[in-house]
Amino acid sequence: MVDVAAISMDQRRQYLNNRLRELSSRIENAEKGIRHIDDPLVSDDPDRALQVSNDNVLRVIDEAAASEIKAINAVLARIDKGLYGVCIHCHGDIPQQRLQAVPYALTCMACA
Ligand SMILES: [Zn+2]
Repeated sequence: MVDVAAISMDQRRQYLNNRLRELSSRIENAEKGIRHIDDPLVSDDPDRALQVSNDNVLRVIDEAAASEIKAINAVLARIDKGLYGVCIHCHGDIPQQRLQAVPYALTCMACA
């Protein structure tokens, strides 16, 4: 007998873990860029301005990835409690369609 629900939850967990790794390496790269490890800040003003604006882009990437990591960790905790797909606000079911689109969704559309 194959437990379909268990398999799909395992796959989901795997997907989320893969995504976590992907996001961590993205953050690592962004922070490496911000700290200018491979690309030291130059003294020439126009070039330096370009580097600084690039840093701001990297910071946005960094923050977006960090907040997604937070959401994924929260969802992994919900999976452990057997509460995956249950809205954290109204405790209603989060529609499968929404979970397909946003696997780390913690709320239903109405509560989002
Ligand atoms: Zn809800």
